[in-house]
Amino acid sequence: MMDHFCLQFSSMKIFAANWKLNLSPKETRQYFETFNQKLTAQHKNNQWIFFPPASNWEACAQSLENSPASWGAQNFWKDASGAFTGESSAQVAKDLSATYVLIGHSERRQIFGEDNALLSEKISLAGKLGLKIIFCIGETLQERQENKTLEVLKSQLKILDKNISNLIVAYEPIWAIGTGVVASPEQVAEVHAALSEYLKANLTNAVPLLYGGSVKPENSAQLLKIPHVDGFLVGGASLKPDTFLSLS
Ligand code: PEP
Repeated sequence: MMDHFCLQFSSMKIFAANWKLNLSPKETRQYFETFNQKLTAQHKNNQWIFFPPASNWEACAQSLENSPASWGAQNFWKDASGAFTGESSAQVAKDLSATYVLIGHSERRQIFGEDNALLSEKISLAGKLGLKIIFCIGETLQERQENKTLEVLKSQLKILDKNISNLIVAYEPIWAIGTGVVASPEQVAEVHAALSEYLKANLTNAVPLLYGGSVKPENSAQLLKIPHVDGFLVGGASLKPDTFLSLS
């Protein structure tokens, strides 16, 4: 399969599903029965990545054994093992065949207080384990209204090492996540152009850019046409296989 880090030379798009704390192991198996069955040759021209809750990692790994889709951990602790009650291990995810991790989602930043220092340590562990990273950044509505969007995004990106590899960045305006309010094509175009320029100037390796925030079948085609939009990170609309597949 084509490496997604060559995306700028192809029309392949990335569709990443963030299930958050939804679906049971049994529902996960049912989901993938449908997904695997309905994945056409055309869908296979794109890349499909799933982030199930930790309780479903094994069901997900088994369901995707013969599928071109990949999966990863929504969350993990900065150490691979130890006395960290209630946490999840990136090493275990990897042993179960995960190839990705999600880092910096606004729910982790806002609800669980994950700051740049902790996120840096998670990035470092992911690198050591050879896991690919989808790194999420985004501004609040207030920051946007105060014209601080790019300043905020850059302050989130500054923790990335210049030579980081296997990285995808997802721009997710916080005010658009799970709210039904999608950023306008102009807003997405403006931010993605600025991010693309920033990433080219500051990082050695090419970085695909995803948009996330209330992506649905009704707005996906228009958003996918925007320059520097290499795909989506999707919450709500990824929970049903037909809906998720219809975003491509
Ligand atoms: C998300 O959680 O990353 C997300 C984009 O959610 P939604 O698609 O539901 O807005």
